[in-house]
Amino acid sequence: MSELNLNLMGPPGAGKGTQAQLLVERFGIPQISTGDILREAVASGSPLGVQAKAIMDRGDLVPDEVMIPIVEERLSRPDCQPGFILDGFPRTRAQAEALDRMLVRLGREALRVLAFEVPDAELMKRILSRGEGRTDDNEETVTKRLDVYRSETAPVLEHYGWGGVKVDGTGSGAPSAARVLAAVEGS
Ligand code: AMP
Repeated sequence: MSELNLNLMGPPGAGKGTQAQLLVERFGIPQISTGDILREAVASGSPLGVQAKAIMDRGDLVPDEVMIPIVEERLSRPDCQPGFILDGFPRTRAQAEALDRMLVRLGREALRVLAFEVPDAELMKRILSRGEGRTDDNEETVTKRLDVYRSETAPVLEHYGWGGVKVDGTGSGAPSAARVLAAVEGS
């Protein structure tokens, strides 16, 4: 396969964003973080941002019909042609099914799924100590985000069946970076 179409899956705090940055540098393909896209919309006060802010502050999901066209538009841009790194999408089965269809429509090669695994207790600790200034990084909202991950997003892994590579996301920085690169090579 010549395209590197990566999908980083895993709960909040699993380190998807950090590892995506590493992959951007290593492979020169763009990171598509739907959380970052939404935070930029909130900061700019656009209609999308106004709609998304309350949902994000509660730890809920922005509706599929809002998210799917945003990702399709982004994937259609020329910089995604050699590959891309999805970080935070798909988060529901409906998003995963829509993504499959759009990749076919856009004539793209199959996704390679990396599933980050980190114990729950470590996730909460990491998020509360990461100090990124996010309004959704408080204990109440993180609890909700972890619940939503389990009920809405974990089933997406089943959607991909056996087709993903598991990555041990424990620890920080260099050790897991090496695991991620090995996982990409093996994907
Ligand atoms: P993240 O930065 O990926 O943790 O996303 C932060 C918040 O943005 C999430 O808690 C959701 O409220 C919203 N969000 C990000 N990506 C999606 C998505 N694919 N579908 C629905 N909501 C999303």
